Amino acid sequence: MKSLLVILLEDNVLDAELNQVELQQHLAEYKCTFKCVTNKTEYRHILEEIKPDLVLSDYNIPSYSGLEALRDFKTKFPFTPFIFVTGTQQEEVAAQAIKEGAWDFVVKDRLSRLPLAVQNALKLRDEQLKNSRIQESVAKSELWFRSLFNTANDAILMMTDFKFIDCNPAAEKMFGYPKEEFLKQTPATLSPLFQASGRSSEEASIEIVKNVMGGQSQFFEWLHMRSDGTVFDAEVALNHLELEGEVFVQAVVRDITERKNTLVALGASEKRFRNLVQQSPMAVIEWDTRLNVMEWNEAAEEIFGYNRSEVLGRSAYGLILEEEQNAQIEEVLESLIRQQGGSKNTNNNITKKKEVITCEWYNRPLTDEKGEIIGIVSMVQDITDKIKAESALKESELKFRQIIHSSPMGIYVYEVNSSDQLILADTNPVADSMVGIDGSELIGKPIEEIFPAMVTGNLPKHFLAAALYGTPWFTEDISFSGGKTSRSFQIYAFQSGKNRVAVMFMDITQRRQIEAAIKTKNEELLKINAELDRFVYSASHDLRAPIASLLGLVEVARLEKDSTGVNRLLDMQKRSLLKLDNFIHDIVNYSRNSRLELEIEPIEFTTMIEGIFEHLYFMDQFSHVDRRVNVPTKLEFSSDPKRISIILNNLISNALKYTDINKESPYVEVRVEKNESGITLCVADNGEGIDEEHHVKIFDMFYRATLNSSGSGIGLYIVNEIVQKMKGTITIESKKGEGSKFFVTLPNLNRQQLDQ
Ligand code: ADP
Repeated sequence: MKSLLVILLEDNVLDAELNQVELQQHLAEYKCTFKCVTNKTEYRHILEEIKPDLVLSDYNIPSYSGLEALRDFKTKFPFTPFIFVTGTQQEEVAAQAIKEGAWDFVVKDRLSRLPLAVQNALKLRDEQLKNSRIQESVAKSELWFRSLFNTANDAILMMTDFKFIDCNPAAEKMFGYPKEEFLKQTPATLSPLFQASGRSSEEASIEIVKNVMGGQSQFFEWLHMRSDGTVFDAEVALNHLELEGEVFVQAVVRDITERKNTLVALGASEKRFRNLVQQSPMAVIEWDTRLNVMEWNEAAEEIFGYNRSEVLGRSAYGLILEEEQNAQIEEVLESLIRQQGGSKNTNNNITKKKEVITCEWYNRPLTDEKGEIIGIVSMVQDITDKIKAESALKESELKFRQIIHSSPMGIYVYEVNSSDQLILADTNPVADSMVGIDGSELIGKPIEEIFPAMVTGNLPKHFLAAALYGTPWFTEDISFSGGKTSRSFQIYAFQSGKNRVAVMFMDITQRRQIEAAIKTKNEELLKINAELDRFVYSASHDLRAPIASLLGLVEVARLEKDSTGVNRLLDMQKRSLLKLDNFIHDIVNYSRNSRLELEIEPIEFTTMIEGIFEHLYFMDQFSHVDRRVNVPTKLEFSSDPKRISIILNNLISNALKYTDINKESPYVEVRVEKNESGITLCVADNGEGIDEEHHVKIFDMFYRATLNSSGSGIGLYIVNEIVQKMKGTITIESKKGEGSKFFVTLPNLNRQQLDQ
């Protein structure tokens, strides 16, 4: 139920009640609420308080007139019904009230008319309200369209019968005509003579406008012309409008010069892009969705051997793909489409020459503005050679590792890190056993940590040079001393990869020792050889000379009858035999010295020297020579007695042999003196002496200083050999005609010293 708020202006309370009753009874669809006021003050007050749906007013109110009340109300609520309910029956009054804006005039006598009057008034009010709203919204939308019309960037033109009847400011601006001028134009005068297609503008425009008038909207590109004659690209939308039976054409013209320019620029950039694609070092191929070639650049020609013109429009299958690859390629395509992103795959392809190559493919779907896939662009790289090189490299790496692991030399492989440190990267079993540490514990450590001694040496420098610059390095002169023993190494370092060095090493300690032994043996052999040569040469002479003389003496003795003569010859034979015996003695002594080890014993010099002299008593000079022996008492000295005896025997016998019998008192002196390390033996005589030029040579084998020497020249050689063997020295002081002094120093030997 609708509510109805009613103001009742009535000074007569009874009348007021009657009104209320009448309405409540006959306006059943309304729930009425009444605000009763009796005078001007109350009335004005209530108008401030509420907004009523209806006012019922008496025409004659004391000190206030009905018309005044009407006017007060209307200024405040112009669309709300105001009805007079009055006792006055005059026609003029009623007419005046209606004229002033009252909605109805009900006479109290005919109060039954009141409900109807109220219903009519309310109905009228509703209609009025509706109309006023429509008007309001029409006005609004007109305003809205006007402002759109006036502020649009596009030119908007209204036209009927090929005549312009309205245009907006954008049109004035676009075409360069003020409105009144514009309205004098026709589509033909707003266009150049011909359109881009070559068609006459007038002809074309008439046709188009006719179509629109017939009810077809049109949208097309058009060349327009401004008042100054410049032509511009436009996009034109023509619509057909019908207003109250009249047909209008509405045209919306958009200047698209800028868009065209952008398109031209886009075209240029696309051209540049195409050039780039053509010249790309990577093969670029564009496919449609069924894998037909749409674009094919020079690099693609190079890889696959087909010219662009040969392949355009052809399917990938049978061209660069085998039919059997279908499933694999489908998969690639599917994932491309599914992910809408790029994908990378590697597969075999066939060239025009039917060679199989391996290619790396980077694919990307091509989409239109709606995001639908219209093709695929692929970038291709022929990686056949790369793959071959890689597998060759892998194979050679494998071989290299096998070689390393089966090498008889120790091998350490180092890698140079970013701070130029050599980091152990690999070892082989030989190296591990040589170094004595499991290589896997050392891998990853820097060389200085593994071999601290190397920090000071040059080795790391050579290894670095090999690893970084490929300079190989070889040496045999490396020795490492660990504890008591020093070991020698042969090292060979060479580049085994980028920033890698393989260091091969071999322990050559034993070889070095053998080499040294061979070297001394060789030297000895050379000496022995030379001695042997000289020995054979002299021996043939020294052995045969006494034999030849003996043979001669035997023949002479055979003829000798006289016994004294025979005796003389026998003496001569004895001397020859003695000489031979001496020589053989000497040879035996020499041989003994070189073959027998030293036998150390304390030496009794006095006894030894006396024994030697006793053995030499048979010498011719013996009885003429004064023999002097000088040995310190309490001399403690150990050495090889047999060898010392040979030395003394030789020196003493020489001193006797080369005695000068013409001298007043010839002598031979043997002196033994103690020195720091042992003793000095001195054998001196005042005999023939030796010319200084022979001093160095008399120790050579078979060297004789005088032609008339009766010896073989081997004695001093043997003496010197023995002295050397006993780590002693021998020197001579001698002057021709004055005498000779031989000095022999010998160290005191004991077993301990010998062992060293
Ligand atoms: P030999 O058997 O000839 O004595 P040696 O080797 O003992 O051979 O001596 C070499 C040479 O040195 C002798 O031939 C001799 O000329 C000279 N010589 C050695 N000892 C003496 C000495 N005491 N006085 C003079 N000449 C000597």
